Amino acid sequence: MAGSPFSATYAEARGRFLKAAKTARASLSAYAHPERGPDGGDLSTDVAWIGPADAQGVLVLVSGTHGVEGHCGSGAQVDWLRRGEAARLGSGLAVCLVHAINPYGFAWSRRVTHENVDLNRNFIDFARPLPENPEYDRLADAVKPADWSAATQTTSRRVLLGYARENGFPALVQALSGGQYRHSDGIFYGGQGETWSRRTLTTIFRERLSAARDIGVIDYHTGLGPEGYAEQIVSAGPDTDEYRRAVAWHGLAAISMTSGDSVSAKLAGDWLDAAPRLLPHVRVTGIALEYGTVPSAEVMDALRADNWLHVHGDPTGPGAAAIKAQIRAAFYIDTDIWRGMVLGQSLIATRQAVAGLTQAVAAR
Ligand SMILES: [Zn+2]
Repeated sequence: MAGSPFSATYAEARGRFLKAAKTARASLSAYAHPERGPDGGDLSTDVAWIGPADAQGVLVLVSGTHGVEGHCGSGAQVDWLRRGEAARLGSGLAVCLVHAINPYGFAWSRRVTHENVDLNRNFIDFARPLPENPEYDRLADAVKPADWSAATQTTSRRVLLGYARENGFPALVQALSGGQYRHSDGIFYGGQGETWSRRTLTTIFRERLSAARDIGVIDYHTGLGPEGYAEQIVSAGPDTDEYRRAVAWHGLAAISMTSGDSVSAKLAGDWLDAAPRLLPHVRVTGIALEYGTVPSAEVMDALRADNWLHVHGDPTGPGAAAIKAQIRAAFYIDTDIWRGMVLGQSLIATRQAVAGLTQAVAAR
């Protein structure tokens, strides 16, 4: 028996992924990251490909867009490989598994990249004026107190919850997580330019997917919504062909991020929204699978603690372990039932995408 597909660390996850990919006779390539992990080990994004290089239809499974959320996505990828799901790919189909597109965040238990950037706020056009977020500006000091004592945690949380009482909790979530481009030492920061992970994902798409006509994408996330439930989030609006295709493939549970019904804030710069522009001749049908973990207030506390640790504290010091345990617990529920829910819903989504791709390729 191979044991659990889920891993406790990035290094373990990478080892499991490479082993499962080799057993499944995938071809592998690695994109080395400039930084190192907390254990001093190498970091890289690994890509496993099964099927013809010029396949017309490609299933693309991406883990670790938000670093620490990679515990979930990596487990789903390894499970997919081990189950022999690749045998379901008909002729003309291939699978491209992108493991840990933000390997630094995964290894260091961070949601952001080594540039302190949220990769899903980074895919904007930096030649144009940056999006404004005046509501975040109002809350920026409360997000990030200079010291992280019990007293400052209490007072800063009071400011944020006061904002929620006045404007509603969804407004707080929108203000904080909608993305901001002004506070490089804050959370949900979109950056001032393209991150390593954005450049790497762009390279992978252009190198590996240019021959495709249809791609189906599943991007694994955690941290929003009811514990264990996977919301299928479509970046495109409800009146688009992209959204209608996602519903045709995945069913009516697929929710447009802009509809107001999603657990996600409306945001600019997520990579799934940008994917069709990376490959203009390819039809992209993509969802983010967003698995719920703990209540949003706890997620926000964990993100603020981790942000403080890396901006003001010492990520390798004695206080780091407790904060790292806190953020990991906010994005990965360490129980068999949660992991089982992850795998079951992932398996359904991947099979739906394979069925959709099969039909799309046959119809051409
Ligand atoms: Zn995420």
